[in-house]
Amino acid sequence: MSAKVRNKIEFLGTGTSQGMPIIGCSCPVCRSDDFHDKRLRTSAYIEYGGLRLVVDAGPDFRQQILRSGIRELDAVLLTHMHKDHTGGLDDVRAFNYFMHRAFPIYAEPMVQDSLRREYAYAFGDHRYPGVPDFVLHTIGEEPFSIGGVEIIPVRAMHYKLPILGFRFGRLGYLTDANYISEESIERFRGVDIFVVSCIRRTPHISHFSLDEAIDVCRRVGARRCFLTHLSHQLEKYEDLSKTLPEGIEPAYDGLSLTF
Ligand SMILES: [Zn+2]
Ligand SMILES: [Zn+2]
Ligand SMILES: [Zn+2]
Repeated sequence: MSAKVRNKIEFLGTGTSQGMPIIGCSCPVCRSDDFHDKRLRTSAYIEYGGLRLVVDAGPDFRQQILRSGIRELDAVLLTHMHKDHTGGLDDVRAFNYFMHRAFPIYAEPMVQDSLRREYAYAFGDHRYPGVPDFVLHTIGEEPFSIGGVEIIPVRAMHYKLPILGFRFGRLGYLTDANYISEESIERFRGVDIFVVSCIRRTPHISHFSLDEAIDVCRRVGARRCFLTHLSHQLEKYEDLSKTLPEGIEPAYDGLSLTF
């Protein structure tokens, strides 16, 4: 990879599975006027080694792509099969149309099985005209490359579900986990920017609590860490920011960083 290539992450969504505000909720966080507190479903746009990637494509995918002015994409990488991370994939049709090709999706076999069920109309021999045209690429725990650019998957657990985080050179990205082994932490070591999900202060069955997320940040040891997949059970952005240790910040939709 050329040293001249400028890598970038833009947070397309930083909210938990229901997004923020939550429909029908009148808590102070959901009622906040601060744009930092308006969180679409967790997703990130990453430019790395010349590739243009999106990690996860939940129900807000279309809106996120439009809001960020993204016109071309080389692939979507999926962390796991939950709907808040895969529910927007029908809209890759736009990229099929404008880029004149089938759209590459990188996912583990279990996630691919789920896509074949959830998007049954897009698979098979007799597809209706205009359905999304996906090309599934199988990934696992071994490093893989897209167009010659290496990406390192990092295993973690989301309660009983194995999920993948990803390392893109000096950026580490891990969402929807509540356990990560020391061996996996090792794969993230040396990153400058580390993104980790955190749902609330109190323990949760499938997501890191705030203390657990802070602990993961310390173990990874990145200079700057950002929390994503945040819920309304955490404080507003402004208040939460003040309580976090040095080097750890809440992410917000639209935040863009180079690495
Ligand atoms: Zn999620
Ligand atoms: Zn609320
Ligand atoms: Zn999940």
